[in-house]
Amino acid sequence: MNIKEILNDNDFIFKKKFGQNFLLDQNILNNIVSLADITKDTLVIEIGVGAGALTKKLSEVSGKVLGYEIDTTLKIPLSKILEEYKNVDIVFDDFLKRVVKDDIKKYNYNKLMVVANLPYYITTPIITKFIEENIDVEKIIVMVQNEVADRFSSKPGSKSYNSLTIFLNYYFDIKKAFVVPRSVFYPKPNVDSAVVVFSKKKTKLYLNDKDHFFKLVKNAFTQKRKTLKNNLSNYDLNKINEVLKKHDKNITLRAENITIEEFAEISNELTKQ
Ligand code: SAM
Repeated sequence: MNIKEILNDNDFIFKKKFGQNFLLDQNILNNIVSLADITKDTLVIEIGVGAGALTKKLSEVSGKVLGYEIDTTLKIPLSKILEEYKNVDIVFDDFLKRVVKDDIKKYNYNKLMVVANLPYYITTPIITKFIEENIDVEKIIVMVQNEVADRFSSKPGSKSYNSLTIFLNYYFDIKKAFVVPRSVFYPKPNVDSAVVVFSKKKTKLYLNDKDHFFKLVKNAFTQKRKTLKNNLSNYDLNKINEVLKKHDKNITLRAENITIEEFAEISNELTKQ
């Protein structure tokens, strides 16, 4: 029996509230997996196992797949679909409630990767969880909504560039790999998707005070249409202007025109001892 038949046979009901749009297209699944250089000493985390189509592919190339799935009605169908895939462990729980460090400590592995077709209603909390929990992930390869992919990988000057872009780009090099049309999902969602690759940065930008930097960036974007002069009026605007002048910029620009390196330079100047 194929995956669709097993789901039907078990009277599985798709749940919109969990973002259940399953991907069964073998070519696209292969393309996603080939973006991650997974080897037999890799532990792969998959958030949202669904009907297990991606899980099967990941199981074939990795040492271990640790999957998370919130929907317990998938337990029985998944036990059939993944019957022969012995290196897969599935935790039936809300991924956002887990302490990932505790979940992974029993495994031996060389590299940790995340590969998933994410539930879109919690895309950002899932990705930031790895940063907040300080988990050393080599690569995160995820299917997300196309416009969210643009935001994650956007560059200064573009409309979607914001404080989240800067936050994520501080930790990762981010590339949109390819767009996936809505028509290949089952059931078909209302939006197109894209696969994004987050690769751990080898060297991070130097910062005197990381908290200061992220707060500065957040403040700079508070009101998108306003200038730095307005949004950063609680900071030393003269010092900020001095730094920007070196880059032929000034405080009458908007935050969307400032690069992550320039924000770092401003933050370091403002926190200089
Ligand atoms: N990986 C499958 C695929 O590619 O076909 C399913 C992807 S589907 C877009 C997202 C999956 O995430 C669904 O199976 C959904 O039930 C699950 N999910 C939603 N919220 C979750 C959460 N908080 N924790 C774990 N899984 C969740």
